[in-house]
Amino acid sequence: MNTQKTVLIVEDEKNIVDILRFNLQREGYRTLEAYDGESGLAQAVSANPDLILLDVMLPKMNGFDVCRSLRNQGSNVPVIILTAREEESDKVLGLEIGADDYITKPFSMRELIARVGANIRRTAMAAPAATAAASAMPVAGDLSINTDSHQVFRGGKAIDLTQREYELLTFLASHPNKVYSRISLMEQVWNYGYVGDDVRTVDVTVRRLREKIEADPANPVYILTRRGAGYYFAV
Ligand code: CA
Repeated sequence: MNTQKTVLIVEDEKNIVDILRFNLQREGYRTLEAYDGESGLAQAVSANPDLILLDVMLPKMNGFDVCRSLRNQGSNVPVIILTAREEESDKVLGLEIGADDYITKPFSMRELIARVGANIRRTAMAAPAATAAASAMPVAGDLSINTDSHQVFRGGKAIDLTQREYELLTFLASHPNKVYSRISLMEQVWNYGYVGDDVRTVDVTVRRLREKIEADPANPVYILTRRGAGYYFAV
């Protein structure tokens, strides 16, 4: 039962599309292409791909607007933003508007293929909520996690998390009350060797996670901040 997954590439640089298509097809993916934001959005809606690789700087409509528009329409398709290395604000903005992940150009094809696989697996494994909720492990309060289906529940209701949000939550929850610095989280959850200013993406992800799992995100009870030290999962 190996159903072929479809990746929509939205990128205006022909040579990048060519190399992405070649490598994705070699890995067994079906690919679709769009060379501007408007047709990217149209194809995302009409073709219902399993994942979208989305460039930021695009003709007609930029990648952020494409992503925002998809999320506003209720689409949960995994979106990986392709951004230039220098554009730090792009990464943060991308996560804020609901992208699942980002990858910086020039990217390693091996890393890109790995991210594509991880982000598709997350949605493919989502089991029917009732079944998954019943076998989810209680973590703290009314929060429970099903590590088989990668689903998180609050009061028995499924919460839609991105792959990174899920990984950050499960990492912190599996080391309760232990404080991790942003750099350490970047290394252990994001698996990035190079850190630099990227630590801001940890703050953004924590904030988005709190908005989803906390009853009152301004006064969190699960993921807490230890000022000057980092974040921890409180039990
Ligand atoms: Ca571009």
